[in-house]
Amino acid sequence: VQTKRNGVDMGKKTQLTEVKAVAEYLKKVAGEHGLEIVRVWERSKKGFIDEDVAALLGVKVTIIRTALNRLHYWGISYYKKRKNRRTGWYTYKWHIDTKRLAELVLEGEMEALEKLKEKRLLKHDSTMFTCKKGCEEYPFEVAAEYQFRCPFCGDVMEFVDDTAYSKRLENQIKELERDVKKLKKILEKAQ
Ligand SMILES: [Zn+2]
Repeated sequence: VQTKRNGVDMGKKTQLTEVKAVAEYLKKVAGEHGLEIVRVWERSKKGFIDEDVAALLGVKVTIIRTALNRLHYWGISYYKKRKNRRTGWYTYKWHIDTKRLAELVLEGEMEALEKLKEKRLLKHDSTMFTCKKGCEEYPFEVAAEYQFRCPFCGDVMEFVDDTAYSKRLENQIKELERDVKKLKKILEKAQ
């Protein structure tokens, strides 16, 4: 059950900007204010004027415009033009396509996840050997051909203890899988 207060969704629903990967993505494509702009949109889900957001965030309007244009390039933001009959001027109200944003981030996350899983497979396939300096890592067969002497520095090559590396890899995979799950859930609800 969702409850609304002051037009703000107070329900348990996960907001897109709460997903770490979304925050990182927005920073990458639209700079440090990208995330804040999308948050403004999430709070009201109403078209906004760049000047209002600039005032709200306490930054120059040109900075907000730049961020909005960068988001527009990726199809994440779009505007609706309206003519003021009295002045003849146009007002631009900006909107955020959160579905498009979620899809873009999800795409990137799935790709990254695939790569990490490939890495994990490779690691599990063979035991690696290297010298103390760590010039290069070799699977057993290759290290044996070198008679366990590093071809670069001549030092003895020993079995690489990759427990820490594997753990780090495992954590990265878990984190990505969590994000992917959240994003898919958000997208399902957006259908
Ligand atoms: Zn070496």
